[in-house]
Amino acid sequence: MKILVVEDEKKVANFIKRGLEGESFDVEMASNGEDGLAMAKSNHYDLILLDIMLPKKDGLSVIKELRDNEINYPILCLTAKDSVEDIVAGLDIGSDDYLTKPFAFAELLARVKALVRRGAKDRGAEIFFADLRLDPVTHKVWRAEKEIDLTAKEYGLLEYFMRNPNQVLTRNMIAEHVWDYTFDSFTNIIDVYVNYLRKKIDKDFSKKLIHTIRGVGYVLKEE
Ligand code: CA
Repeated sequence: MKILVVEDEKKVANFIKRGLEGESFDVEMASNGEDGLAMAKSNHYDLILLDIMLPKKDGLSVIKELRDNEINYPILCLTAKDSVEDIVAGLDIGSDDYLTKPFAFAELLARVKALVRRGAKDRGAEIFFADLRLDPVTHKVWRAEKEIDLTAKEYGLLEYFMRNPNQVLTRNMIAEHVWDYTFDSFTNIIDVYVNYLRKKIDKDFSKKLIHTIRGVGYVLKEE
């Protein structure tokens, strides 16, 4: 398993590198956004650990450029910021998870393992629900044969809905399955994401598929 660590703070970078190598990961390092982007484009990685505040090119721009180039390695953001807006901005343009500094190595390792595991089980047959079609290999989604462009997180959310249709999914269930942990005070992120997804999946169609169960959560169903 090969991991790219893009981090300009030497102490943090070395702390991560030593820890991950101790867990038998193969680790490569970049100390600015430009180098990180170039390495990510020219090598294969199982995961990228990406600091947000970086010299030359910031982490959010790196994510955007990778996703625009259809480079879909899982990305775990490291951020000193912990406001909901910044977290949403990162997740929105295609990061898969985030960790706020300072963090314990055990916490980082748990997130890394979860993302690598999820990446590995991504392969599989297409999933259908109503006139939705989802391809877990290419992460492409269609509704009524029209391709729908989703961010990584919107895709993860829709895949979870489509693997559990006609079941009420609580915000906590969604947080645990799509983000791998509970949000506690951040549950409004789930609502923000469901609304993004609705705009893309349901807005232009008369038959709505994502329904709100007030006070509980959401369900994917045909009415
Ligand atoms: Ca930094």
